[in-house]
Amino acid sequence: SGCPPVAFDGASCEDVSFSYGDEAILEHLDLCIPAGKVLGISGRSGSGKSTLLRLLMRFWDVQGGAVRISGTDLRQIDTANLRRMEGFVTQETHLFHDSIAANLKIAKPDATREELVEACKKASLHDFIETLPQGYDTPVGELGDTLSGGERQRLGLARAFLHGAPLLLLDEPTSNLDSLNEAVILRAIRQERGGRTVVLVSHRASTMAVADEVYSAERGRAS
Ligand code: ATP
Ligand code: MG
Repeated sequence: SGCPPVAFDGASCEDVSFSYGDEAILEHLDLCIPAGKVLGISGRSGSGKSTLLRLLMRFWDVQGGAVRISGTDLRQIDTANLRRMEGFVTQETHLFHDSIAANLKIAKPDATREELVEACKKASLHDFIETLPQGYDTPVGELGDTLSGGERQRLGLARAFLHGAPLLLLDEPTSNLDSLNEAVILRAIRQERGGRTVVLVSHRASTMAVADEVYSAERGRAS
């Protein structure tokens, strides 16, 4: 603790190895995440894509090698600083029994209504919210079960857009969306990320099309 904030200048995995148990999931993985780029991570189910994001978020520590942000080992970075540097969308969007606005503000507690609207427009969710009788003040229901999978996912994306972190880690962020919504969101990720660095996990070729570079989790190399 007590480390000063690290300015974001890219991230990397250096000779990273990791297993949850006996079986190696990632072995001697080298990966460069250049600042300002969209890096795609592709690979079949079970190839370790989400695991790689969890290591970048330090939900788990590596067992060999190092994950670095701006050259600094994640283990040397305050958790609070790390959370400020990373916005993420996981495969499950967790919602609280509160309004849509309150669920968005988890990413930015002091966000204005205008900021919420802007983030929801990028996430292709604003028009849907406008159709609700209470708009942004609509309760999402116990664990978000009044929203569809795609609406929950877009709410997770709106949170990521609001967060303002220089590094966005997106795990299958459009898996529950139709192709029209997917296209709107991929465009927003690509064009309206404001210079932020994005790691975009997906097994879909249509999603990988927006990436500057694609890393294959199966073959263990960038292409
Ligand atoms: P998908 O495309 O289905 O999301 P993925 O590429 O994200 O797959 P991971 O979730 O990283 O794959 O899982 C990689 C491997 O690690 C799988 O074999 C999975 O069963 C295993 N695994 C994932 N999480 C855990 C855990 N918490 N404990 C034990 N094994 C796990
Ligand atoms: Mg996964």
